Amino acid sequence: MADCVFCKMVAGEINPDVVYEDEEVLAFRDVNPQAPVHVLVVPRRHIATLNDVTEAEAPLIGRLYLAAKTVAEHEGIAERGYRTLINCNPEAGQSVFHLHLHVLGGRPMHWPPG
Ligand code: AMP
Repeated sequence: MADCVFCKMVAGEINPDVVYEDEEVLAFRDVNPQAPVHVLVVPRRHIATLNDVTEAEAPLIGRLYLAAKTVAEHEGIAERGYRTLINCNPEAGQSVFHLHLHVLGGRPMHWPPG
């Protein structure tokens, strides 16, 4: 997707602060962090929202979560605790329409989220 900021990162046209990558996913620090650790895990392939995920992409969703687990371990928050979340569509606050898993930690998380 030519006008997708996360596709530009995957393509190497924009260089985020990458903390993890493999053949399927890229993970980088959020430019506007909401916690001491705030990493976004994105599939290399463009998928706009969680609503667009198909049955065939179920393993890819698993890869996002495995990457999140690895990031949490590397960032030293795995044992303390961390939150993963996906915002889907505007009412949930999705602002970038390339599927991404937020990994937040390094401070106590509140519930319910806003
Ligand atoms: P969401 O609101 O769930 O769509 O999350 C999008 C996230 O992408 C926000 O937390 C933004 O701060 C983050 N973001 C947008 N542009 C960039 C960028 N160029 N580098 C890193 N994070 C970004």
